[in-house]
Amino acid sequence: MEKERHVLIAFPHPDDEAFGVAGTIIKFTDAGVPVTYACGTLGEMGRNMGKPFFANRETLPDIRREELKKACQVMGIQDLRMLGLRDKTIEFEDEEEVADKIFAVIQEVNPSLIITFYPGFAVHPDHDAYGAAVIRAAMRLPAEERPKIYCKAFSEGCVDILGKPDIVHDVMDVLDRKLEAIKAHRSQTEASVAQWQDSLGNKDEEFLQWVGKETFWTYKGPVVD
Ligand SMILES: [Zn+2]
Repeated sequence: MEKERHVLIAFPHPDDEAFGVAGTIIKFTDAGVPVTYACGTLGEMGRNMGKPFFANRETLPDIRREELKKACQVMGIQDLRMLGLRDKTIEFEDEEEVADKIFAVIQEVNPSLIITFYPGFAVHPDHDAYGAAVIRAAMRLPAEERPKIYCKAFSEGCVDILGKPDIVHDVMDVLDRKLEAIKAHRSQTEASVAQWQDSLGNKDEEFLQWVGKETFWTYKGPVVD
């Protein structure tokens, strides 16, 4: 992993960081790199609510806020910003206004690396819209001051268009804590975590590849067909 001055993680939902980025975050914070997480919403429209259910629409925002704080603790993140956008509606927000919120954080923490979603390749409309706003915010800086941007992409066929991810972090050595971070988002992950225990116990190679390697695409500009 390249040495960084400050890393800004920017995702719309609590738990967006858990599966594909938590190991990377843990490695940065272990190395003493400050990490800020700008989380767009509280994921208050989330559908999974634990197994058995322990949350409802009323209680979910508070529960997810606490889960997010706990996950940040596990990952060593000391600077969590909750931007207060509404879950499942980011695509309808004014992109400039969302970018304003993110730009304020960029100016304050002066990151050398931003990690977000690749707009157009992140499946959920909130993911694409938030990623687009993050990139719009970063592009306000002159090129020589602009941080690197690593993007997560996972839409079907994204490799055909983007090529293979150019950044691969092996996080097997921090897997225990990565799983703790995933578990911290209990209302969203409890059902799947139960299944994983078997895969982990059986040392399922495919599962370990998936959870033990985190991949990113360096943002190189909008993709034109
Ligand atoms: Zn999400």
